[in-house]
Amino acid sequence: MMVYVHIPFCLSKCAYCDFNSYAGAGALLPAYLEALGREMENWRRCAQHEPVSSVYIGGGTPSLLTPAQAGDILEGIKRGFGLQAGAEVTVEINPATWNGSAMREAVARGITRLSLGIQSLDDGVLRVLARPHDAGAARRSLEEALASEAHSVSVDLIYGVPGQGTAGWEAGLGELLDMGIPHISAYALTVEENTPLASRLARGELQLPAEEETASMYLETCEILKARGYRHYEISNFALTGHTCRHNEGYWERRPYLGIGAGAHSFAGGLRWWAPEGLKEYIRGMREGKAHYGVEILDSSTAHSEEIMLGLRTDRGVPRTAIAIKPETFRTWAQEGLLRRTEERLALTDKGMLLSNELISTLMP
Ligand code: SF4
Repeated sequence: MMVYVHIPFCLSKCAYCDFNSYAGAGALLPAYLEALGREMENWRRCAQHEPVSSVYIGGGTPSLLTPAQAGDILEGIKRGFGLQAGAEVTVEINPATWNGSAMREAVARGITRLSLGIQSLDDGVLRVLARPHDAGAARRSLEEALASEAHSVSVDLIYGVPGQGTAGWEAGLGELLDMGIPHISAYALTVEENTPLASRLARGELQLPAEEETASMYLETCEILKARGYRHYEISNFALTGHTCRHNEGYWERRPYLGIGAGAHSFAGGLRWWAPEGLKEYIRGMREGKAHYGVEILDSSTAHSEEIMLGLRTDRGVPRTAIAIKPETFRTWAQEGLLRRTEERLALTDKGMLLSNELISTLMP
């Protein structure tokens, strides 16, 4: 089993963000931590669990916790469910929060993987995104993470941002490669409704780059990182040997996971369920033992669609027998360089991953 813990507190709200996260709600943090403990205890009592193979403390901004609080959460998981030897334990860090000494303390308390949400090393881009840190803080944070003795360090980046430009994007990537960051997640900017970014775009204050430019940033990224020895193991994820994120690989392989925290999703035994999203609702629900969970029963056709959808996001692809693809569709896609095939499996190429939504929806049973 894998465990995800959601920490939905943030310093401020970024311009593009529609995640379940709250700025200025720090006064609720102690009650929230108590609620997390109660939820863990409820699940511990519910069933027999195999020891946890990976933990992911995400957000929000989990590095608004002290390293001791993050360590306490991990101890709670160990006590409640057991933790496998060599388990991967990730915590997401915002560069405006933990310094090097906090990162070292977190590692000493059992965190093995630091995932830094730097998004860019360009101050102009960071301002458009309204991130609570500048490029200098991001660089410092990366240096400190690399010196922290964590087993792995990852960065999150965003491309396709107004005003970013291909040259600026590539310069940032080059800098990260020179630093030796072993894991890179690169996401295309998505404009979510009702965000400040969407309003600025609607008012014409900002302009998105042309689709072709964003597509070429993606393909360049794949090429540059692969030339430097990174495995492109999922649409947005690249890793040096030994540094893939095992927790995320578990999601793509549909392994069971338990989500703890407001709005956190869980998956096991053909069911998906999720806790209330609102902070106060979640805290009250846990305190009174009356939280209303949402539940979805995944029938076999939905489960099969998920397997295909998630499998094709990865470089392992899916078993050939899992997909009914028409021979003429296969021929066209292969000729266009969108698909690759081994004896037993089918996977998307980099170019195919760029069009993954369209391709996957064509293949859905
Ligand atoms: S730090 Fe992350 S979760 Fe928080 S507002 Fe920014 S993008 Fe959203």
